[in-house]
Amino acid sequence: MVPKVVFGKGAFNQICDIISPERNGVAPFIFLVDDVFKNNTSFIEDRIPLSYTDEIIYVSTVEEPKTSQVDEIVAKIRNDYQYVPSGIIGIGGGSILDLSKAVAIMLTNPGSAADYQGWDLVKNKAVFHVGVPTISGTGAEVSRTTVLTGPERKLGINSDFTPFDQVILDPELIKDVPKDQWFYTGMDCYIHCIESLDGTYLNAFSQSYGEKALDLCKEIFLENNLSKEEVDAKLMMASWHGGMSIAYSQVGVAHAMSYGLAYVLGTKHGIGNCIVFDKLEKYYPEGVAVFKKMKEYHNINLPTGVCANVTEEQLDIMTKVALSLEPLWENALGCDWKSKINEDILKELYRSL
Ligand code: NAD
Ligand code: ZN
Repeated sequence: MVPKVVFGKGAFNQICDIISPERNGVAPFIFLVDDVFKNNTSFIEDRIPLSYTDEIIYVSTVEEPKTSQVDEIVAKIRNDYQYVPSGIIGIGGGSILDLSKAVAIMLTNPGSAADYQGWDLVKNKAVFHVGVPTISGTGAEVSRTTVLTGPERKLGINSDFTPFDQVILDPELIKDVPKDQWFYTGMDCYIHCIESLDGTYLNAFSQSYGEKALDLCKEIFLENNLSKEEVDAKLMMASWHGGMSIAYSQVGVAHAMSYGLAYVLGTKHGIGNCIVFDKLEKYYPEGVAVFKKMKEYHNINLPTGVCANVTEEQLDIMTKVALSLEPLWENALGCDWKSKINEDILKELYRSL
């Protein structure tokens, strides 16, 4: 779990006080920042207290993070600095938060990030790392994983060294997220709740966080009596609770299928989950009905015909990637999941997207 968190409008202004005690001599702080903020320096850059050789590295999020990208950033930092950094501060959405967690891990562990995709493969403690979300829903700010696309698979580095040492939750930072993206990433949180609460892995820990996050999602996405400020603050907390819920359970069918889509077509996580979840009435009847209401309420039109032009070979890979995520299927369908889902059923579902 994340041991330290601050919350509130303007909380980002505490960044200097928060990181200063962690400064190790002249070893720099490296800020990994979503390049969407590059041309809006007053919002983030001017508020970052750079000292000594501290550096801001802007990172594009056109594609979701890859193990090769983590390796490149780590190589650059090792090449540019004599010392292991005092800390890595990630400022952005799920993509940047995951990238920052992975870079912090790989600065103290040998080899490639791809070597650590899986569960508990990391040996050495990561460097101090701080997460500052600027869009809410993924729960990446609180989770024990960092999802990366590697040469062979899309899979997280799940370890006790992955979670941030400190998170700064400042709802003001998410106020300008474009509407569609706000919805897609917000729905990631909603889908985490449904998949966790409807799953066979459910337990009191996951349920208590999942139910709270689900209530918040319903308020945020279906009611019109909240101010924008209230919506932003509640969404930030929904994302946190949704992430906490899956920390002790698992996601399910939508995530397994969305990983397959992402691996073959590069479909991004939030929108990919929405495209898939929209067709999962059979698995999550109530959850999908409410999702459709939310979609309508916010005038969201999802892409259609997503798999219209995929080849048989691509469909095979998609299906294999999805089915390889065994814990997700076991959570969704129970111990005998192999008797309930197979390549043919899954291919038909993919073709319907
Ligand atoms: P993202 O980080 O890719 O950002 C989506 C878009 O929003 C980008 O174009 C970005 O530039 C823009 N954006 C971000 N903040 C903004 C702001 N304040 N104003 C304007 N634009 C802004 O999207 P995401 O949905 O947050 O994250 C998706 C990633 O999270 C995927 O890589 C997925 O695998 C990962 N993920 C991780 C976990 C985990 O537990 N680690 C869980 C779910 C998803
Ligand atoms: Zn997700």
